[in-house]
Amino acid sequence: MMTSGTMQEWPLNVWRLIDHAAQNHGEREIVSLTCEGHEVRTDWRQVQGRAKQVAEALRKLGVKAGDRVGTLAWNTHRHIESWYGISGMGAVAHTINPRLFEEQIAYIANHAEDRVLFFDLTFVKLVEALAPKLKTIEHYVLLTDRAHMPADSSLKLICYEEMIGGEDADAAWTAMPETAPSGLCYTSGTTGNPKGVQYSHRANVLHSYGACMGDVLDIRSRAVVLPVVPMYHANAWGVPYAAAATGAKLVMCGPHFDAPTIASVIRKEEVTLTLAVPTIWLGMLQHLEATGADLKPLERVVIGGSAAPRSMIEAFEEKYGVDVCHAWGMTEMTPLGTIGSLSADALKLPREKQIDLKCKQGRGIFGVELKLVDDEGRELPRDGVAFGRLLVRGPWIVASYFKGDGGEILDKDGWFDTGDVATIDPGGYMQITDRSKDVIKSGGEWISSIEIENIAIGCPGVAEAAVIGVRHPKWDERPLLVVIRKEGSVVTAAEILEYLQGRIAKWWMPDAVEFVDSIPHTATGKIQKVALREQFAGYQLA
Ligand code: AMP
Repeated sequence: MMTSGTMQEWPLNVWRLIDHAAQNHGEREIVSLTCEGHEVRTDWRQVQGRAKQVAEALRKLGVKAGDRVGTLAWNTHRHIESWYGISGMGAVAHTINPRLFEEQIAYIANHAEDRVLFFDLTFVKLVEALAPKLKTIEHYVLLTDRAHMPADSSLKLICYEEMIGGEDADAAWTAMPETAPSGLCYTSGTTGNPKGVQYSHRANVLHSYGACMGDVLDIRSRAVVLPVVPMYHANAWGVPYAAAATGAKLVMCGPHFDAPTIASVIRKEEVTLTLAVPTIWLGMLQHLEATGADLKPLERVVIGGSAAPRSMIEAFEEKYGVDVCHAWGMTEMTPLGTIGSLSADALKLPREKQIDLKCKQGRGIFGVELKLVDDEGRELPRDGVAFGRLLVRGPWIVASYFKGDGGEILDKDGWFDTGDVATIDPGGYMQITDRSKDVIKSGGEWISSIEIENIAIGCPGVAEAAVIGVRHPKWDERPLLVVIRKEGSVVTAAEILEYLQGRIAKWWMPDAVEFVDSIPHTATGKIQKVALREQFAGYQLA
């Protein structure tokens, strides 16, 4: 007869993370640059107390367990308090990306049926314009104090500081099963409407254990972590939960994403770990080069969301002495899936080979199973050569989209198709070659647009590069390289192609190079290939 273990039931609720931080690391700081233009220094204990006040205030507004509460906010202490407060009273914290088009924001808030919207001062005009389209919002909470409330607004605004001011900072959390929803985030939806991913308490807590591991984000109590990645981009990659789990110091730049501000905050707060998408780091490296500044005492930068080019990894490591760790994941994966920290064997390799590995997206984290399949669903070998669709499975990976959108999304064995195309080498290092929709099919073979981009960006004079497939009468599709020149550069197409010679396979060589002033990006900083393909629709190769 099967017996069960004899251990305690201890539901994995996200409020346990902040309770732990308050009790064991209560005075560990949380520093924010706010929308009001100043710096606020608080700590885990105060943030926990204020999160409880948020929970009480929401109860009084009539919010019930399972209801969605939206946030349109930057990374600040108030956003963290709201986040924990919302899920701590049983509701679902729905982080909305303010960089989406207004129509998409309205669609998302209506689809989620958000009952309350918390938002930053920077979004007053946006929310006023959107309000007539927001069908379910009953209360608008402005994340500020009385002194900064607008003199007049078309909305009946609640002042955040006044709303929570009189509430009980010792109030109890709402007991919820660990499988209950705690957060909601919509995918960027490059085609069709965005789809919602509803995280459970359990998924978030398990993901926090995973994120803190030494080989993953290595977040310890002594760490000082700056998530430049916003909370609306897949929970800031889980950092506000993971930092609470270990009591790390948390630093947030609010509405500031410019390199000078981030660099000075890194130095002033002695940040040891920071995380962001490559576009942020492109700007940072240009800033450091132009000013001769450095990032001391930063130890590690985690880059994800899009592939980190080799030149970026080399610059951080060689010029600035900062360890670069590549991470891959998705909104659908809470979001971490793989991490590029070096294995014991890799540490014995020559430097060049180590960088080769660092360019890959890394090995699966415990809790995430990876598998490659071909178009017929047959598993492909882990030989670092065969590339196919990347499937994932695990306790923090989506099982279905919110409200069942998109229907059945797992195969019969429970695997989720990431939409990415990848290789996995015998050491377990996975490398993304493309989104399946962006892969270039030339003469029946696949060309990796990402790999060409990442090499092209290393060419002197190139600021940004994107590769798309354009029609070709014989080969079906051929690569077109689209380039933004660095300021003042006169680099030519021939020079760039010359640079690529010997660095990529001959038949991957772009058939043409076009220079542009800007390359379209999505709301989470990825190159918008769909828009770029539209821009070059009908492009005639010579
Ligand atoms: P999002 O849900 O917005 O974070 O987007 C997830 C997608 O971003 C993944 O499916 C990948 O296509 C892409 N992505 C995330 N991290 C990386 C990475 N390190 N390298 C290449 N692509 C990435």
